[in-house]
Amino acid sequence: MSDEYRAGPDHSGPAFFADPVVRAEQVRKTFDGHEVLRGISLSVTRGELVSIIGPSGCGKSTFLRCLNFLEIPDDGAVTIADVAIIRSGGRWTRADEDAAHRLRAHVGMVFQSFNLFPHRTVLDNVMLAPMRVKRLPAETARAEALALLDKVGLSAIAARYPDTLSGGQQQRAAIARALAMRPDVMLYDEPTSALDPELAEEVLSVMRALDEDGMTQIVVTHDMRFARAASDRVVFMEGGEIVEIDDPDILYVSPQDMRTRRFLRSVL
Ligand code: ADP
Ligand code: MG
Repeated sequence: MSDEYRAGPDHSGPAFFADPVVRAEQVRKTFDGHEVLRGISLSVTRGELVSIIGPSGCGKSTFLRCLNFLEIPDDGAVTIADVAIIRSGGRWTRADEDAAHRLRAHVGMVFQSFNLFPHRTVLDNVMLAPMRVKRLPAETARAEALALLDKVGLSAIAARYPDTLSGGQQQRAAIARALAMRPDVMLYDEPTSALDPELAEEVLSVMRALDEDGMTQIVVTHDMRFARAASDRVVFMEGGEIVEIDDPDILYVSPQDMRTRRFLRSVL
């Protein structure tokens, strides 16, 4: 939770939310006749850390994937930074795909499985996309990658290959790799679910540090403690809908909706 947010003079008023980095409006997605997202709307402001919690199968991953068009919403609109994509059924065109490509340039995504390139060193994993996609010169890409690896506590093992790293180190490398593209927002889908608690903690501290730096982050997580302690807001989803969004201390202590109460009782 950034101090800026906590100390901000009008963080509950409309002015604070006037400049969303991410805005989803009425996002709908159906798989095989089953409506998995039933009209999801969420705005996330620069520097916010928003956690998404909810029972397995409620659509959390699908929603996150819709935000960067790894899944194409059937309906609704997604705006990230200055790229807006509006869907109302219909075909996904070449122009839509171009827009999605531009939108994805603003997004870093981290998955439960670390997905590093196995035949590349940690440093190369972080340098590669900036060189290939952004055409950064190797020296610039290397310097930036080393700074990011330092940030996530991995500069000492930059020359190693992913399979020689712990899961926590691999996930931190995956975060550095996503950051190397200088995204406006980081999306995490259960980033610590495959990790033992102490390794998970390494990853969560990196996310807290990024929050301190003002990074915008959306985290799907089962880690109720992290969601409460680190988030500016927590989103509770169930059955393809957002049931409740609130400050974590309010949502955890006095949830407004029966469904939120029932879920929290089952997991806390
Ligand atoms: P969560 O991340 O909250 O556990 P998901 O978004 O992964 O939930 O899944 C929501 C629902 O959508 C589940 O019923 C799941 O089986 C279904 N689903 C997700 N992805 C696909 C897909 N590619 N094809 C068909 N069904 C899917
Ligand atoms: Mg999921």
